[in-house]
Amino acid sequence: MIEKALEVLQRYFGYTQFRDGQQKVILSLLQGSDTLAIMPTGAGKSLAYQIPALLSEGTTLVISPLISLMKDQVDALEQYGVPATFINSSLTFNEVRSRIGRAAAGKYKLLYVAPERLEADSFRGLLETLNVSFLAIDEAHCVSQWGHDFRPSYLHLGPFLKSLPRKPLIGAFTATATEEVQSDIIRLLELKKPKVFVTGFDRPNLTFSTLRGENKKDFVLEYTKAHADQPGIIYAGTRKEVDNLQNFLTKSGLKAGKYHAGMSDEDRKRSQDDFLFDEITVMVATNAFGMGIDKSNVRYVIHYNMPKNMEAYYQEAGRAGRDGEPGECLLLFSPQDVVLQRYLIEQTVFQPERKMNELKKLQGMVDYCHTPRCLRKTILEYFGEEDVVEECGNCSSCNDERETVDITVEAQKIFSCIYRMRERFGIALVAEVLKGSRKAKIRELRFDELSTHGIMQEVALQEIKDLINYLVAEGYLQLTNGEYPVVKLLPNAVSVLKGKAKVTRKVSPKPAREKSEEV
Ligand code: ADP
Ligand code: ZN
Repeated sequence: MIEKALEVLQRYFGYTQFRDGQQKVILSLLQGSDTLAIMPTGAGKSLAYQIPALLSEGTTLVISPLISLMKDQVDALEQYGVPATFINSSLTFNEVRSRIGRAAAGKYKLLYVAPERLEADSFRGLLETLNVSFLAIDEAHCVSQWGHDFRPSYLHLGPFLKSLPRKPLIGAFTATATEEVQSDIIRLLELKKPKVFVTGFDRPNLTFSTLRGENKKDFVLEYTKAHADQPGIIYAGTRKEVDNLQNFLTKSGLKAGKYHAGMSDEDRKRSQDDFLFDEITVMVATNAFGMGIDKSNVRYVIHYNMPKNMEAYYQEAGRAGRDGEPGECLLLFSPQDVVLQRYLIEQTVFQPERKMNELKKLQGMVDYCHTPRCLRKTILEYFGEEDVVEECGNCSSCNDERETVDITVEAQKIFSCIYRMRERFGIALVAEVLKGSRKAKIRELRFDELSTHGIMQEVALQEIKDLINYLVAEGYLQLTNGEYPVVKLLPNAVSVLKGKAKVTRKVSPKPAREKSEEV
């Protein structure tokens, strides 16, 4: 059966072979099983339903929520000589009517429609005459309230399917689906004994690194300078952070642009074009940047702040190396990011159950930032891809050859200072006391009289802060929620203070940075 599919692949699309994931999905559909395919963006979902469509009798209906993508898809298919069209709200009434007429006459192999259409009686009439045997549903997660992109119009799919004289074969496609979303898709679309495939998540040309306790600004400056001639994206958590960082990089002589939702349409458009046409090489942006932007030669994606979950992270990081050439994905972790994300989740209007779920996903993200295990393996396991191979050998965990040094004494100094300051202050003030600052606030609070005042005098202030952040990241210290996070001791820190446990840290040479400089 796969031979016929291969022949169609070659004849129409000019490719010689299927990607691993595509083949499994196509075969399942050709065997007549309802199929749920979870494949990340760029893995080749479209072909996974277009090929079965070309091999099915009659017209295949493709449900897609994205009007602009529909047109692109249809244009591409027409170029390959596949008769296809779309019907959505961008068309005039007359145009819709004439397309419906041609569809009824069997002129199209694929018909793309927006889900809203399914509500219209006239349209349902057409579908009955079409006698659809295969229905592909793109962005199937839109049917679930658990998903990040719930669309009420997708709920019409269930009743619509019931109203059809003959139940068509269904292929549901999405890039992201947690277990909850998967079971919603199966239930609401009434998939019969569906085969579920999670596939195509591996991006072998990307290397992954997490960095903790780094001075982020210095790191980014150094990194972008070393890669000044290569396009890259830096994602930051807030608009303000984007503004600051872009300003800083520009002042340091880099060709950096910015993009966030607080800018005018015009400015955003200009910035985006500048990046697409390589007028600027670094794009500093919030997560508003990237949707539908097709720049294949992005060489690195740096996350200046940790995103809210692995789904968001992998989608953003995955914008590197679209052309198949090497791409580097770096995540700079700092504990404040966890505080911010937790705060954002708590601010939402979600039901408690949903909030818990979001917090669980956030924890998955935090775990990724801390794991000493292979990062690629961790990612693939998170998304549920089966048969994950061994360690990848090229992530920051696999490559971690740094020397382990004992920092127990420094940690004890920090912990005891926090203890003496009664666990009521933030990282900045603790660091200043350790450094030996005599500024007014410190004198007022009489912290200059503490035995820990100035005991890290010889260490740079920023380095002390970095160390404290490291100790938070490693679970010795905790930052409280709220606008002014306070550092508190965790049980692990107490053991260290009592001399019952040691603290170690890996130190330079840092492989992630070294390696990237060779590129
Ligand atoms: P998705 O919908 O999953 O985001 P697309 O279907 O748009 O991904 O495919 C991404 C790119 O991969 C397209 O440029 C497509 O032509 C290409 N592609 C898909 N399948 C193959 C294949 N078997 N061989 C080579 N290129 C492929
Ligand atoms: Zn690895």
